[in-house]
Amino acid sequence: MTAQQKTVGRAEGTTDPLEVWIDQDLCTGDGICVQYAPEVFELDIDGLAYVKPPAPPGEEVDLLTEPGATAPVPLPLLNDVVASARECPGECIHVRRMTDGTEVYGPGADAA
Ligand code: SF4
Repeated sequence: MTAQQKTVGRAEGTTDPLEVWIDQDLCTGDGICVQYAPEVFELDIDGLAYVKPPAPPGEEVDLLTEPGATAPVPLPLLNDVVASARECPGECIHVRRMTDGTEVYGPGADAA
C-alpha cells in the first residue's frame, strides 16, 4: 500500500482511493462546500468553487481551475467532502474512484 492509499478517502465498502471535481457551470457560489471542507474547496475571485490539491503544512496551494480538474480526497476529510456533495445545491460536486473513474458520491452516483 502506498502512502497515498493510506491517506486518501475510500468509497464505503471499498479500498479504492477517491478524487473530487466540481462542474463550475452548475455552481451557485453559495460556499457550502467551503464551509464543510475548506482544505479541499475554495471560492475563487469569479465567485465559483474550485478544488485544490493537498497543501504541505503552512503552505498555500493554487486552486485547480481547469475544467474537470480533480483533487484527491484526504481520508480525514472524506465525510466532509461527501456531505458537501450531498448538500451542494448545484448538484455539481462529483466524487469518484481514482482507479476506474466511477462516481460514488454526487449526482452521477447510484446512491448519492
Ligand atoms: S456547494 Fe456546490 S454550488 Fe455551492 S459553492 Fe460548493 S460547488 Fe458551488
